[in-house]
Amino acid sequence: MIEVFDTLSSLQTYRQSLYLSHQNLGFVPTMGALHQGHLALIERAIQENDQVVCSIYVNPTQFNNTEDLQKYPRQIAQDLAQLEKYKHVKVFLPNDQIMYPQRANLRFDFGYLEQVMEGHFRPGHFNGVALVVAKLFHLVKPHRAYFGQKDLQQTLIITQLVKDLSFDVALVICPTLREEGGLAMSSRNQRLSPAQRQQAQLIPDTLFSMQDLLQNHQKGIEEVKTMVRTIFENGGLQLEYFEVVDRFTLKSIEKITPQQEIALCIAAYLGEVRLIDNIIFKTN
Ligand code: AMP
Repeated sequence: MIEVFDTLSSLQTYRQSLYLSHQNLGFVPTMGALHQGHLALIERAIQENDQVVCSIYVNPTQFNNTEDLQKYPRQIAQDLAQLEKYKHVKVFLPNDQIMYPQRANLRFDFGYLEQVMEGHFRPGHFNGVALVVAKLFHLVKPHRAYFGQKDLQQTLIITQLVKDLSFDVALVICPTLREEGGLAMSSRNQRLSPAQRQQAQLIPDTLFSMQDLLQNHQKGIEEVKTMVRTIFENGGLQLEYFEVVDRFTLKSIEKITPQQEIALCIAAYLGEVRLIDNIIFKTN
C-alpha cells in the first residue's frame, strides 16, 4: 500500500526523517482525479529527487464558482491505485481542517499577472492558488516543485510567489500532455460526453493552426482573433477568451515580429465545462 499522510504530524515525522538522512524531496501538488499529465510530473520528480510527495487536495479557496467546486471529480481510491506502482512516492492527503484551521483572509497582489485571462474571468482564483501553494510549501518543504505548462498563468503567479516570499524551492515547469487527438489532458475532461470530447478537439486544433499562421507571418493578430471567434461560433463552443501574449509577462502582443516568444491562450465552455489550453512558440 502506498503511504498516505493525512495528518500534519505524520507528514512532519516523514519530513524530519528525510532531513536526517540527507535526502532531497520533489513535490507535485494536485487536486486529484489523476491522469497521465499528473503522472508525467510525478515521473519527472522521481527522476530528479530521492523522494517525492504528491499532494491531493481540492482547494476550495481557488474556486470562484461553487458548482464547479461541487462537481470537481474526486476519486481518491483510484488515484492511490494509480500511484501504487511508484517507489519513493508518498501522498499528502490533507482535509479542509488541516489546510484552513481558520478562515484565511490573507490577500496577495500579483499586479498585472492576475488581472488578465484566468485572473480576470475567475476573480479570487489566483489568491486561492497562491494561498494553498504557500501553505503546501511550508508544510512539505520540498527542494523542487513540479507544475504543468497547461496552467501557464499559474506557473507565472507561482514563480512570482516564490520570489516575493523567498521560498527556497526550485520550480520545474513541465510540458502539457495531450490526448491522442491533441486535447490537453485535464481532470475536467471526465465531465465531457464522448461527443463533447470530440468537439473539444477544436481547442488544440485552433491553437496549432493559429500558431502556424502567426509563426510564419501569414496573418496579423487581429485577423487571427477574428478567425478564432468565427471558428468557435461555428463549432458550438463558447469562447471566453483567446489571447496572443508575451509568454513571460502575459502582455498582449500588438504586432508580430521575428523571434518573439508568444503564448496563445484559450478558455472556452463546452456546456457547463470550462476548459483552458495554451501553446508557446517563437516566431520565425
Ligand atoms: P490540477 O490537479 O489540475 O490542479 O493539476 C495539478 C498539476 O498538474 C498542475 O501543475 C497542472 O498544471 C498539471 N497538469 C494538469 N494537466 C496537465 C497536463 N495535461 N499536462 C501537464 N501537466 C498538467
